[in-house]
Amino acid sequence: MLIIKTRERKRENPSRPKQRSPFKIRVKNSYKTTIMIRLFSQLCKCFKQISFENEITAFDKYVSSVNIETLVCPFCGAKHALSPFASYKRHLVTYNNTAQDNIIIISRYICSSCKRTHALLPSVIVPYMSFSFKFTVYLIHDYLVHKYHSVEAMCEHYGIAISTFYRILKKFKEHKQIWLGLLEDKLISNLTFVQHIINSSFDKLEDFIIQFFKQNGSSFFQGTS
Ligand SMILES: [Zn+2]
Repeated sequence: MLIIKTRERKRENPSRPKQRSPFKIRVKNSYKTTIMIRLFSQLCKCFKQISFENEITAFDKYVSSVNIETLVCPFCGAKHALSPFASYKRHLVTYNNTAQDNIIIISRYICSSCKRTHALLPSVIVPYMSFSFKFTVYLIHDYLVHKYHSVEAMCEHYGIAISTFYRILKKFKEHKQIWLGLLEDKLISNLTFVQHIINSSFDKLEDFIIQFFKQNGSSFFQGTS
């Protein structure tokens, strides 16, 4: 089950000219049926200061500032019905010049109304993938700028199998096209798109992750494993 808790977006100033941005917001679909919980929250005030640099810090902040009272069950829509149920450990490989394997604890909540359990996944986590969002983005970036003399060398640096890299790359291209649409996908290069992500504030990035999820019912990069 996926719970999404988004903060309200500020209305854009209509007098301002529209800017072309890979992160433009499109909300076409309402939530689709989903199978896991993601948590994004109005706790974002404190997140404005958090950079994209430290995902584990971001993760900890999310987890420690969750207010379960504000969550709505994504399955049955019950309010004030979630309570802590269990937690489990999983790996999260992050990237900060080198790959780092972390163990994180994911909390699960149970809904007293429909009895379903939901795991809370902060935005730095791509569902079903052990690599963090940043890890994945830097991997694509380094590939596109030919930072390493070969794909093999790059994969060795990142500690991943070559086949894993190509799966991630394929998913990146696929999701970029879904997000931008056919035409703009051609106009905005892969590198421009990935650089835009890297240069974004955590806040803006999170908006992108949220909007992509709302539009598609799955997360950017999800489905690579
Ligand atoms: Zn429920």
